[in-house]
Amino acid sequence: MSILAVMEQRGGVWNRVSFETLAAARQFAQELDTTAGAAVLGHSIGSLAEELASQRLEKVYAVEHALLQDYTADGYTLALRQLMELAKPSIVLFPHTYQVGDFLPKLAASLGKAVVSNAISHRVDHGQLVLTRQLFQGKVNVDARFAGDAPHFASLQAGAYRADQPGPEGAPHASSAVENFAPCISPGDIRTRPLELFRQSRQSLDLGAADMIVSLGRGIKEAGNIAPIEKLAEALGAELGASRPVCDAGWLPDERQVGSSGQTVAPKMYMAIGISGAIQHLMGMKASRTVVAINKDPDAPIFEVVPALLEALQGSR
Ligand SMILES: Cc1cc2nc3c(=O)[nH]c(=O)nc-3n(C[C@H](O)[C@H](O)[C@H](O)COP(=O)(O)OP(=O)(O)OC[C@H]3O[C@@H](n4cnc5c(N)ncnc54)[C@H](O)[C@@H]3O)c2cc1C
Repeated sequence: MSILAVMEQRGGVWNRVSFETLAAARQFAQELDTTAGAAVLGHSIGSLAEELASQRLEKVYAVEHALLQDYTADGYTLALRQLMELAKPSIVLFPHTYQVGDFLPKLAASLGKAVVSNAISHRVDHGQLVLTRQLFQGKVNVDARFAGDAPHFASLQAGAYRADQPGPEGAPHASSAVENFAPCISPGDIRTRPLELFRQSRQSLDLGAADMIVSLGRGIKEAGNIAPIEKLAEALGAELGASRPVCDAGWLPDERQVGSSGQTVAPKMYMAIGISGAIQHLMGMKASRTVVAINKDPDAPIFEVVPALLEALQGSR
């Protein structure tokens, strides 16, 4: 196997961004003419591994250990190092989550490797994978290629790949074999003691499921201007979203915030009214199929989405 997606779960519940990573792994494998597999770590994860087995992969690794019940950087690093020896993947992909940000640098450094973190796209150049990531708040894109021996590590930005991408047509592995792997971890290896998780306030609204979103930003100037936009959203049958300053100001509840510290959305149409398109906002909505931006500044970064959209549309013809 050559491309391995490491999925994230907590308490038996998937972090949905993992499925974007899985879709990317399949896509990379197809373009690099190799195979894709997935791994899930934890305790009593049989049903999660079975779920992965139906995802058209060559192999699924269920990395099981009682000491992986709760996440720790030490436990995950040890387990994944051992999995690398067993699976020998060439490229290992992770969703770019807080948890991955916690252990992936340690894992890579322990193997003397670098990580391409928070990649937003890729291309294949002369049979070699090139990953693009952003610097300076999204102002500069850089291309990164792996050097040296495998395994190579990368994490992918939320929204960079669509989880609903179909697998490669005619993939031979409609259902893959699950291999159970019990890493050697002893209690003395774990130097931290997980405490109860910080729980965010209950989020009742799932903007991720919305087909259309009308989102408003600081450009609307004051809360009094929300009413006509609300009417527009209602007429379109769209959900109302917002940039962070709007929620911070209490103009709309936090659950409507779109972005890296809000919800990740992928509607068919995303209308951004008075939103500049800071990187943290783009991270939450750039998987939208069509973006309509209403902004008096023609150079607002939100318009950067338009050329990308055009390119994607032209490419799909
Ligand atoms: C750790 C961290 C996490 C963050 N997480 C998020 C997040 O999840 N989501 C998020 O949105 N932000 C997030 N932010 C904040 C982010 O960096 C930006 O500050 C924020 O997205 C800007 O919001 P905005 O576009 O509404 O406001 P501004 O950047 O102030 O943009 C306002 C826009 O309105 C336009 N405008 C002004 N007047 C008019 C008019 N009359 N008609 C039309 N257009 C007009 C302007 O041209 C401008 O483009 C985060 C920041 C940090 C540091």
